[in-house]
Amino acid sequence: MRKLELHWQILIGMLAGVLFALAMVQLDWGPKFISDWIKPFGNIFINSLKLIAVPLILGSLIKGVSDLKDISKLSQMGGRTIGIYIVTTVIAVTIGLGVVNIVKPGASITEATRIELVDNYKGDADAIKSKADKQKEAGPLQALEDLVPSNIFAAASDNGNMLQVIFFAIFFGVGLILIPEEKAAPVKKFFDGFNEVILKLIDLIMLAAPYGVFALLAALIVESPSLDLFKALAWYAFCVVLGLSLMLGVYLLLVWVFTKISPNKFMKGMSPAQLLAFSTSSSAATLPVTMERVEEHLGVDEEVTSFVLPIGATINMDGTSLYQAVAAVFIAQAFGMDLSLSAQLGIIVTATLASVGSAAVPGAGMVMLVIVLAQAGIPEAGLALIFAVDRPLDMCRTVINVSGDASVSMMVAKSVGKLREPKVKNWDDNYKK
Ligand code: ASP
Repeated sequence: MRKLELHWQILIGMLAGVLFALAMVQLDWGPKFISDWIKPFGNIFINSLKLIAVPLILGSLIKGVSDLKDISKLSQMGGRTIGIYIVTTVIAVTIGLGVVNIVKPGASITEATRIELVDNYKGDADAIKSKADKQKEAGPLQALEDLVPSNIFAAASDNGNMLQVIFFAIFFGVGLILIPEEKAAPVKKFFDGFNEVILKLIDLIMLAAPYGVFALLAALIVESPSLDLFKALAWYAFCVVLGLSLMLGVYLLLVWVFTKISPNKFMKGMSPAQLLAFSTSSSAATLPVTMERVEEHLGVDEEVTSFVLPIGATINMDGTSLYQAVAAVFIAQAFGMDLSLSAQLGIIVTATLASVGSAAVPGAGMVMLVIVLAQAGIPEAGLALIFAVDRPLDMCRTVINVSGDASVSMMVAKSVGKLREPKVKNWDDNYKK
């Protein structure tokens, strides 16, 4: 029998996880059974993906940069990457603001519902706020200062320090370009081989993906709060999802116009990474698979993916910025505030910056949302309003974050002549080996 393609396997795993959990919650002992015996497998799956994130960035970025041969190529690609990342993020925030101003989801919230929501999630919202307060205390140049680690082993020992690892890898790569060819050769060879091993590990981990997402979704279902509250937030969620869908349309259009790769081909190539982003809510955890899909299935040269994608996973979060814009205006509407045009323009700037500062892990966008709210003068207690639906929306925005990184890498590749025919024509071949 022909083996099912990976994206179908993952989809079936997700669906089975949801159905299984819905059945289990009917039993008294069901939820505990899922937390004790199913959830750990989901955690193991996510951990195994995170496990290879740092070695992957180190290996692929050092190899990628050193392959560039000269520094001018690096700065050319770097400039384009950052430029396109900023443009797509601003487009995303603008779409979010457009949708939320037209649909006005906050207007449908009654006083009673608002009080109920704020009461229910006050504790959670306070915890998020105190995390965000720490970020706010930082000086204006803190982010720049944080970019340079004082110890590479310390930086690499914490998955939250990806930018520092990226900095080191680029710096090391630059060093490799600048030393004589014969001295650089063995080091490059080592990283070549190292890279191959990591890519193989990703293949192996992906074999477990259908089971991993089964466990993740089952755990999510038994832990989610009451369905009643979800109803009040349906309109808000609708706006976020509508905005995210429009943004996906923008990517498909951009990719099609700039690279002539059809939307169908892009989606087919990316779907395992997108499904994984959906299940893990983490662009960092999805990064290994994003890199593999973009390289092998969409034909972007490794030189480009190894540079553009790790940076994108950490700083380019279009889904997150769009969500922050919608959430901020929704909360303002719910509290009966009218946001002026200048306040909304302010949101474009802060949501763009806040999404850059969001870590590529579940829930990070919500922490940074506090900064957007504070800047626009919107009550931070409003966080409690949106808490109940944050996780499903996090799953959706992570899909857009990952798709955005992939499409930008394709445009950058095209612009530097590094887009080629994909290696794997039948796009599941490498998992069947
Ligand atoms: N979970 C998102 C990501 O990893 C970040 C966020 O919006 O919370 O891309």
